[in-house]
Amino acid sequence: MTRSVPVRVLVLALAMTACEDGHVSISMLDYDRANDAYVIGAVRVATLDNVDRLEGEATTLVGGADLKVDYQDNSLTWRDSGHSVAFAATKTDGVLYPEDYDSFAMASIYHNMEVAVAFFEAVGFDTTSLGEVTTYYWPVFDLVDSRGVEDRMVDNAFYMSLGNASPAFFVLPFDQFEWVPMAMNRGILAHEYSHAVYDVLVYEPRSAGSGGLAVEASNFLSGTNEGVADFMAVGVTGDPDFIAHTIPRGTFRTQCNDTVWVEIVRDASVPITYSSSIDGFARSISPTDFCPYQVGAFVASLLYGAANTLDGHDPADRVAPSDEAVRKVAGYVLDALDEVGGQLRPTYELWDFLTLFVGRFNPGADRQGVCGLIQARYGLYFDEVQGC
Ligand SMILES: [Zn+2]
Repeated sequence: MTRSVPVRVLVLALAMTACEDGHVSISMLDYDRANDAYVIGAVRVATLDNVDRLEGEATTLVGGADLKVDYQDNSLTWRDSGHSVAFAATKTDGVLYPEDYDSFAMASIYHNMEVAVAFFEAVGFDTTSLGEVTTYYWPVFDLVDSRGVEDRMVDNAFYMSLGNASPAFFVLPFDQFEWVPMAMNRGILAHEYSHAVYDVLVYEPRSAGSGGLAVEASNFLSGTNEGVADFMAVGVTGDPDFIAHTIPRGTFRTQCNDTVWVEIVRDASVPITYSSSIDGFARSISPTDFCPYQVGAFVASLLYGAANTLDGHDPADRVAPSDEAVRKVAGYVLDALDEVGGQLRPTYELWDFLTLFVGRFNPGADRQGVCGLIQARYGLYFDEVQGC
């Protein structure tokens, strides 16, 4: 990345930026929930330890990385592990105004991570258990998929475990700028953050133990992972259709390794009933070819509806649930996942998660509400859900 400001001048400018309480105000792309829009405005950033390098409690940004991931042999090759980034800004009336696009984007990304961390802390997850979180900004990222097709990735943002308990987020170069880039979409980054949390709660306790998972177990686990991630993103943003700011309605893309073009819709407020076709797909496709988003959309929609039932609303009315109800459900989900990870069966089924989930609801009206919802949407296996 080229910078227009010499480093020495930058450091002098930033020496004036930190407020006494450790907060800094930075002009960035921010989600305005009241208007459901992304707007540029001054935002208080609370957790930066080093403003000029964008290092803080939420994450450390790293630039200039160059790597290749090969899914054929599960290898990861670093051609360059990257370096600290330089945040260039000028200060006016107490607000830092980024001087270049990268600084603007990186500040927005840092803050999105910070908001995700604050949400997970608020619903009872100890985010320090993730260890040092690194966000690779704009890396060269070559991916060889399971069919051997190599591609240099752009326009994406995702979480990837590097296998050493250090979660890493990758923000790939933006190619299309008409819409909010992936990592500047608060919901998408929150979704990715949830995957890191899921790893800690579900997959990592397991890797210490037993052998292989049944096909359907692996697929239901990845479907649960996607659904929970979407629901947590809704919790962070308050926006059930957060993805539409980046992937507008009417956008058709291929997903996973599939060659079929599908419309990308991930609106958690849309009621979804678990069907025998969703079920058959999850039970028959090999995990490397399984696309988890159908199961995921069902799970996200169910959790959103569960928040509705806590508020005493019929989910079919599609009234936005209260933040309190969403946070309660998020906390129940994390507790249930913790138990899923602690006692994971090689034949894991979606109803295992749902059994542990409904067990968190107070017996009485709360439990009845969520059980009624599960009966209506998951009738195929309602009898398998214990506690209803
Ligand atoms: Zn995901």
